[in-house]
Order: sequence, then structure tokens, then C-alpha cells
Amino acid sequence: MLRLQGINIIVALIAIFVILHLAFIPEQHTLRTTFSTLLGGIGFLLMTCSVVLATRLEVFEEMFGGLDRMYQVHRVAGTFTAVFALVHFFSIPKELPGGVDQVINSTFPSAQIGMASMVLLVIGLFVALNRKISYSRWRNPHKVMALVYVLVIGHFMNAPGIFFERFSASGILLILTAAIGMVALIYTMFGMNKRTASRFTIEAVNSLERATEVVLKPVDEMLKFKPGQFAFVEVQGKDWSEPHPFTISSAPSEDRLRFTMKVLGDWTRKVREELQPGGEVIVRGPYGRFDASKSDCRKQVWIAGGIGLTPFLSKLRAMEEKDDGEIHFAYAARNKEEAIFLDELETIAADRENITLYPLFSEEGDFARIDVAKERLPGQLTDYEYFICGPKPMVEGLMKNLKVEGVKCKRIHVEAFEFR
Ligand SMILES: Cc1cc2nc3c(=O)[nH]c(=O)nc-3n(C[C@H](O)[C@H](O)[C@H](O)COP(=O)(O)OP(=O)(O)OC[C@H]3O[C@@H](n4cnc5c(N)ncnc54)[C@H](O)[C@@H]3O)c2cc1C
Repeated sequence: MLRLQGINIIVALIAIFVILHLAFIPEQHTLRTTFSTLLGGIGFLLMTCSVVLATRLEVFEEMFGGLDRMYQVHRVAGTFTAVFALVHFFSIPKELPGGVDQVINSTFPSAQIGMASMVLLVIGLFVALNRKISYSRWRNPHKVMALVYVLVIGHFMNAPGIFFERFSASGILLILTAAIGMVALIYTMFGMNKRTASRFTIEAVNSLERATEVVLKPVDEMLKFKPGQFAFVEVQGKDWSEPHPFTISSAPSEDRLRFTMKVLGDWTRKVREELQPGGEVIVRGPYGRFDASKSDCRKQVWIAGGIGLTPFLSKLRAMEEKDDGEIHFAYAARNKEEAIFLDELETIAADRENITLYPLFSEEGDFARIDVAKERLPGQLTDYEYFICGPKPMVEGLMKNLKVEGVKCKRIHVEAFEFR
């Protein structure tokens, strides 16, 4: 679930900027200049937030509710940056403000820098939002955004109006923000945002129905994580491209790390077809906040769709005697064959009185639906806390219906299996 603490900080930062900007307007500014620089400043603050979130720092995971949420906010902030930049560009007066020295101004090509950064920003946004461009193709060009950020700082530090604004209150706020943004950018660019790398050797590659289980043996220490967390998996060797995120499906107490990977595209297909025991893998993490054990609600509904099973698998494998909260677990798959690990889940549910398992097979007309849950769950829907992981349409549909039934947002936790 997206936590509001992080969003509130962004809103507060923008509000402070707006207040300072409007409270101390330089006398040379026309209304149009004030409005336009206000939008440009807000765009820059949003871009800085986007840059800062790319650091993946744990403190921000806490504020936003996990790395996947941070990336969602990063994307939304980036989109609004482009919108604000465009309106700023079209609204800024083209003539120089009175009092600006023409010669000094011509030595600082602010407008050209601004134009170049805006064009790159809009292209970058188009590429980022275009789902037809695959993740691996998009990833490296996206790094151009770092250059755009530096250009934007160059633009406003050289802008003619800054001769009046640099030491105005809102100008100082922008300069401070730029300093923080640059530190964050350098931190990310030089790879310092990668959490501890743990080395593993591949012990087994098990083929499942449309998925592959990769079992890893630690070279040194075992990775410490909580059930429901994920990590970036980096297969060593050429042609294995960038790291991919996967939820850890083993329990923290196990001496092996297990990932269950659905065959979806080139990389996951290659894992299934080419990955061999004995190879080396670097795992970076853990990340994520999809943790049912943190909740103080003893009645929980877990809903997994397909490969969305993995965080629950880890939770179930990690379950101890003292974990006696009432859990209703709906596991939706196309059919019994595709319901991977169903036997193991049935054994766990049979052994534990507190877990009720509901296998749902869409080919038999059984879907994860709230009206069905209403009939089957004891008590009211509002008595429970919900944890959902699965395909986006399923997750969105369930969330919508739960809200209609009066379940509060803070009682619905979802894990998104995508960043972009
Ligand atoms: C937090 C999280 C947890 C996940 N847990 C699991 C899991 O337990 N099991 C599982 O099967 N899948 C999981 N996924 C999804 C998994 O990362 C993708 O299915 C996989 O990376 C697809 O790679 P591909 O090249 O085979 O497929 P593609 O067809 O290239 O990609 C399919 C989608 O996966 C995403 N993706 C691709 N490459 C990357 C990357 N390097 N980094 C981030 N996203 C990428 C993109 O959104 C893309 O649209 C998880 C994703 C996230 C974000």
C-alpha cells in the first residue's frame, strides 16, 4: 500500500515553494513571469523528487510503502515534471525582463539549455510510457534523464530572471533542492544505490508449469530478509543483461534461497532454457514492504493470482506455531496444472487450523471475486485485512470492489510486480 507520509512531504515541499515564491515576488516580475517561473519551479521540485526516489534508500521505502511504490511515485512525478515544463515553456515571456544586461545574458544560453532539456524530457517521457518498448531497451536510454536534470539546473541558474531571484526565498529553496538532487544523482549514477550484494551458486533449476524454480546456495552468508520481500537477481556471465526483481519464495530460516519465475519474456525464458547448476548469481536486496506479519489484524484474507503466489509462499513456509491468526487464502490459477505448489499449500493448510485454502480455477468458472468472498467468509468483509498479489486487472478489480464494500484503503495491501 502506498504510504502517505512520503506524498505529504512532497506536497509540503511544493507548498513551501509556492508560498515563498508568491510572498516575495521580485519587483521586475510581471504576473505572467511569476506564474511561469512558479510552474517551472514546481516542475523542477518534482523532478528532484523523482531523482531522489531513484536512490532506492531504505528510509524512503518506509515513507512510501516499498520500492515498487517509490517507483510508481517516481514515474508520476516524472510525468508531471514534463507537463509543468511544457506549460512553463509556452508561458514564459520571450522578451528579457527589464534590468537584464543583454551582454551578460547572451553569455548564458539559458533558453537554449532549457529548450534542449525540455525536448529530451518529453522524448524520455514518451519512451518511458510506451509499453511497446521493452524494459531492457528502455533502461539504458532512460539514464539520459540524469543529463536532463543537470541541464535543467544549468537552465534555471542561468535564467535572466535569476539575477533577481537567485537569492530570493524561493530561489534559495530551488538551489538547496538542486544540491540535494545532485548528491542523489551521483549516488545513483555511481551504483551506490545497490543494496548489499550477496553471492550465490546455482544449486538447481527446476521446471514447473510455465515457471522455473531457481534454488541458490550462499557462497558466504545467507541473505537476511522477511517473507514477502523481493531482491534483484543478477546472473553472472555475458548475455545475461540487467538485474531482474523477484520475490523470494523460500522462508528466511532456510539455508537456500528460492525464486519462482514465471516464463514471460526473453530473460525468464533464457532462465528456463539455459540456466545451469554451478553458475554464479548475485542477489541484491532485500526490498519491499509486503509484510502481513506487521499487521495487528488477526483476521486476514490473502489473494494470489498465478505467479502472485510467491510472497504468500514465503509467508506460509515461514509460519511458526505462534502464528495463529485466522487466514483465508484464495489461490487463483487457470487450472490445477498451473496452480504450482498446490500440493505443498494443501499440506500446510491441512496441518494448520488457522489457514483455510480456496483453490480457484478459472477454467472451472471459479475466479477471485469479492461477491464470492462475501458468501464464503465468516462475518463481514470489513472484519478482515487484505493482502493481494497477482495480475494488474485482477488486483485493480478486487481493490475497487473491496472499497465499494466499505473496506478502508489502509486495510488493503497490494504488491505490484512491475516498476514501470
Ligand atoms: C517487486 C517485484 C517482484 C516480482 N516478483 C516476481 C516473482 O516472484 N515471480 C515472477 O515470475 N515475477 C516476478 N516479478 C516480475 C518479473 O520481474 C518479470 O516478470 C521479469 O523481470 C520479466 O523479465 P523478461 O525479460 O522475461 O520479460 P519481459 O517481457 O521483458 O518483461 C515483462 C515485464 O517485466 C518487467 N521487467 C522486465 N525486466 C525488468 C527488470 N530488469 N526490472 C524490473 N522490471 C522488469 C517489465 O515491467 C515488463 O513489462 C516481480 C516484479 C517486481 C517488480
